[in-house]
Amino acid sequence: MLAQKVKDVPLYINGEFVEAQAGRTFENINPFTNETINRVAEGREEDIALAVEAAVRAFQQGPWGRMKVKERLKYIRKIADIIDAHAEEISYLESLDTGLPIRQTQKMAARAAENFRFYAEMVASRMVGEAYQVDDEFLNYTIHKPVGVAGLITPWNAPFMLETWKVAPALATGNTVVLKPAEWSPLTAHKLAEIIHQAGLPEGVFNVVHGFGETAGAALVAHPDVRLISFTGETATGSEIMKNGAGHLKRVSMELGGKSPIIVFDDADLDRALDACIWGIFSFNGERCTANSRLFVQEAIYDSFVQALRERLEKIVVGDPLDQKTEVGPLIHPKHAQRVREYIRIAIEEGAEVVQPKLDERLEGGNFVVPTLLLHVKNHMRVAQEEIFGPVLAVMSFQEEEEVIELANDVRYGLAGYVWTQDVSRAHRVAQAVDSGMVWINSQNTRDLRIPFGGMKQSGIGREGGHYAFEFYTEMQVIHVALGNHPIPRFGKASS
Ligand code: NAD
Repeated sequence: MLAQKVKDVPLYINGEFVEAQAGRTFENINPFTNETINRVAEGREEDIALAVEAAVRAFQQGPWGRMKVKERLKYIRKIADIIDAHAEEISYLESLDTGLPIRQTQKMAARAAENFRFYAEMVASRMVGEAYQVDDEFLNYTIHKPVGVAGLITPWNAPFMLETWKVAPALATGNTVVLKPAEWSPLTAHKLAEIIHQAGLPEGVFNVVHGFGETAGAALVAHPDVRLISFTGETATGSEIMKNGAGHLKRVSMELGGKSPIIVFDDADLDRALDACIWGIFSFNGERCTANSRLFVQEAIYDSFVQALRERLEKIVVGDPLDQKTEVGPLIHPKHAQRVREYIRIAIEEGAEVVQPKLDERLEGGNFVVPTLLLHVKNHMRVAQEEIFGPVLAVMSFQEEEEVIELANDVRYGLAGYVWTQDVSRAHRVAQAVDSGMVWINSQNTRDLRIPFGGMKQSGIGREGGHYAFEFYTEMQVIHVALGNHPIPRFGKASS
């Protein structure tokens, strides 16, 4: 029913859907067929300039900056309701555009709506400050103010979820927004613009400029009126953005790449550990920042665990992302699929054994990479150190607890970690020793919106989620009030 022709995607600037000023467009392809889905307006520096100008106006002079918080939050809740009403369409567009299996995108709209409701509640209860009474002479108190124009730059994996994760707290706290979505996944970002338009937000409060990183993204980062950049994407891009934003001392939040370990001790509940390990690397086509892409199995159970993995691999359903049965779909783009295949070639060159089921020949020619195990991997190999961002699991064995902690931490990333053991003391000991922003014990990537999300080392700076996002998107100001006539030093009146 939803298999309709998808319209071309314009920019959304100052409350209007517009073409790029230079009239440029780029092609958006379906990762399952590599056919063109539609064309997308290609914004560049001049379009970013217009969007930022509109956002500045809406913040400084427009109703958004002056609106009562209660009023603003009505809009935020309305966005959530409209997202819910379009859940099926959002899931379809996301799977069509990214290749993510539809059974995995089905929950995304509800989750995205929850992002808006969660931050509406948080702002309602947290737009409060602290008061300090100082020696009966002064009252000092703090207030939270929005920062100004927020530049939000997002990746193509789970785009609707990641965009709303930033847009919701940015708007709820009173900022205005220019969103630069990833060029490979424009459809749900456009849907979000339509939803926000329908919610009736004042013009200029929310803007979307599609386009490429080096042009539209870089212009957003370089713009002097953009006060903060919240970025999710590759570590190398994050580093470039920090450099380019430094000139104006922009506030930055960085959610970057990962190469997260999953450690399975021989006393673990192995059935659950197996399920978690498979889900953690092969769900979302392995294009997931918190994917457990390095598996460390304790030696006593190594053979049986790997055998169980091999057997399960054969049964994973690879296919059309719009088919309800599909568990792993095509990768986002031929270039990305090529990059992942290149890593598999490198693994062979480095001496690893590649275990892969055969790809159904009807799927050949697409962007498919079947779920893949790399055995006999050593931690120094590139395939154990670099983020592959596909359905590829590097498997290693270990003997002792100290050894596996050292191996797990011997990598430049530190986003997530997973520990499987029934020994409660060891579980906590190892979790605390792993240098990752988030470690799950006997579980897989469950997350409540109150919980901080983010990485250590080269996986990021700052945390999203919960009150951490609230703090990132607000400025704290202190007001000092004199309660009486406290002495003020007098200059220039020494002789009188
Ligand atoms: P990417 O870094 O290539 O692109 C991300 C965004 O940045 C895109 O919108 C792109 O156009 C833009 N961009 C590129 N160059 C830019 C520049 N010079 N200036 C400004 N913007 C620029 O990342 P990707 O390939 O889209 O996404 C995959 C990466 O994202 C993986 O590394 C993954 O681990 C990471 N990721 C991290 C998290 C997290 O929360 N830590 C979540 C999801 C994805």
